[in-house]
Parts: sequence; C-alpha cells; structure tokens
Amino acid sequence: MGKSKLETLTVSDPQLLNPHDAIIKVTRTAICGSDLHLYDGFIPTMESGDILGHEFMGIVEEVGKEVTNLRRGDRVVVPFTIACGNCFFCKKKIWAACDNSNPNAHLMEAAYGYSGSGLFGYSHMMGGYAGGQAQYARIPFANVGPLKIESDLPDEKVLFLSDIFPTGYMAAENAQIQPGDTVAVWGCGPVGQFAMASAFMLGAARVIAIDRLPERLEMARSLGAITVDYSEEDVSVLTALKDLTGGIGPDACIDAVGLEAHSAQLQGTYDKIKVALMMETDRPSVLRQAIQAVRKGGTLSVPGVYGGLLDKVPFGAAFGKGITMKMGQTNMHNYMKPLLERIEKGQIDPSYIISHRITLEQAPAMYEVWRDKKENVTKIVIDPWAEAAS
Ligand SMILES: [Zn+2]
Ligand SMILES: [Zn+2]
Repeated sequence: MGKSKLETLTVSDPQLLNPHDAIIKVTRTAICGSDLHLYDGFIPTMESGDILGHEFMGIVEEVGKEVTNLRRGDRVVVPFTIACGNCFFCKKKIWAACDNSNPNAHLMEAAYGYSGSGLFGYSHMMGGYAGGQAQYARIPFANVGPLKIESDLPDEKVLFLSDIFPTGYMAAENAQIQPGDTVAVWGCGPVGQFAMASAFMLGAARVIAIDRLPERLEMARSLGAITVDYSEEDVSVLTALKDLTGGIGPDACIDAVGLEAHSAQLQGTYDKIKVALMMETDRPSVLRQAIQAVRKGGTLSVPGVYGGLLDKVPFGAAFGKGITMKMGQTNMHNYMKPLLERIEKGQIDPSYIISHRITLEQAPAMYEVWRDKKENVTKIVIDPWAEAAS
C-alpha cells in the first residue's frame, strides 16, 4: 500500500486467464529476504494493492484446458521464476531468462538491455503477477513450473524448494567448488544457510560464515561453518579471511546479501547518503569486500539481489586477480526435482531455518520484525488459512 506499508485485505479470487493457467489453493507461503527490497521501496514499479509473495505451495484447484501435467487435487511447489518452457532461453534451460513470461519486458529493456523472466509478486516491471502471500494464486505456464509432491512430506520440508533452497544451491554451484576448497559466505540468512549446506554437499572442506546476528551465526556453526562476526570491534573481515587461509584468500566467495548490505564501516554511511541523494541505487559493501577477499583466480558467486547502479565497485581488483564472477536469478526448474530427492532421502531438512509461524493477518507487522531482525527471527512461514487470533 506504499513504502513500508502493508495491509491484509480481502480481494477477488484469481481467475484462469489463459488455457495454460492453473489456480492453486495456497497451503503455505513464506516471507523472503528479497521481499524486503520491495517493502523498503528499493524496487520501482510497485503499485498500491499489489500482492506480495514468491515462495508458496498448495493444492491445484482448477486448470486451464491446455494444462496436461496437473490435475485438481495435485499438491505442488511453485518456482518463483515464471518460465514458458518453449523459448530460446527455456530450451537452453536458462529459465530465469525466459523471453515470454514478462508482459512488461519493455520496462526492463531501457535499463537492462533485455528483461529477465516474470516473477511472482515482484513489481510491475517483473510482470505484475499477483504473489502467493494469499489464499489463492494464479499460476501461468502451469505445465512448466509447478513441482508435484507425491510423498507425504509436510509442507514445511518442501516449501523452500520454491526459492531459497535452489537459490542457495545454485549459488554454491556457481562458486565452482572443487573438493577441499574454502568457501566464504557473506550473509547467514536463509539463502546463505542453504548456500553453506550446499557448499559442503559439493565438496567444500571449509565454509566461513560472515554475519553480525548471533542466531544466524549459531545456525551456521550448527552446519559446521567457521564464523566471523564483523560487528565485533576488533574484527576486520579481510584480515580474518587471510588469517584463515594462510594469506591466500578463500577459493570462492558467495555474496548472499545483495543490495541492502549493512556495513559498520565508513563506506556504509557513504552508500546510505548516495542512495538517499539518488546518486546510487544499491549499497554494495559486501560485493566490494568479496571482490577484495577472493583469492587470485578464484570465483565470486552472487545470489544476493542487485537492482541498479553500483558505485565504487573495485573492478580493477577483479580484473587484476583474474576472478570469475557468476550471478543471477535462480534457474529454478533445473534444481527443484534433484533437491526434492535430497530431501526425500533425508540428506537435508530445510525446515530447520524456520523461527516464526504466522497468519496472513499477522504478516504486515511481521514484515517489520523481519526487516529489523527482532525476536531472533530467521524465517517466517505463513499459513494463509490459519485463524487470526492464534
Ligand atoms: Zn525469495
Ligand atoms: Zn521461455
């Protein structure tokens, strides 16, 4: 309803608009770190009345006549990126670059050259699709995206296949980890957690976790990571990473923070002022640090969201050290099924990150808690059918 202003309202139910659509009854949804970029007004083209939410799952209620993969009653997890399955990019399995799913692509082209795929609940420039923090949602290209859950695993164990588990996994894959590598991860929120767990799965010998919130650092230690609390007065992240790697630097660095980085240093203040003056759109202090920290010939993977123009990024250091940089929205469709299999085999239970279970009525207040990292919050899951007064 405006910057930092949310309401829970009754709206009309979504309708099938296209024969390839499905309507699902949402059984669980979650609030993502990247929802905060919308909440805080960093992403343009939001309108009053837009429905947020791109992490959701549910039961198929209705399908259009061209939908052959799904039937009423199927239980599905929906990927946050919308892909047609038939364009040049979908055929190359670069699903997050789908050329057919963003009807407002022209809004992106001026700034980006080309548009990425449409996204649920993520502004009009990303397609203006209603999100899943609701009781029902319309799913376009329903033959392509939704992953059927045929086992009786509870919602909470599979919900995060909608975004953050695949996103963390792709971040680790993009880090090009070799057995024995040391991987440093900035940001121990949900994506950082899954990036660390995935780094170990892909053969990392050591993972170094960087954050300032005790509950997140504790979670990182529970995965086996070494932690660096950058808010401690005498801690320099760069020195700590050098000390932990014999002066060489981590083989791979993962920026799981993105455009609203918090920084205890002078550059944090600098970025806040430049953003306020609209001379910069993003606060890239983690990106700067990760470029500096990574070893020569190492890899930088960026799952954290960036939106626009960044200032004082040490590109010379990136060039001078010959690093590889990989980034972008997650190509969800490549990861959902293999990661579901890992959950089914008991290799990981993604629900360990959940700290809060709430109703839709509680969501507006909980966005504030999430933004300000109060109440030891680590991940908020919403049951859209739960009664308000619980
Ligand atoms: Zn998300
Ligand atoms: Zn496509």
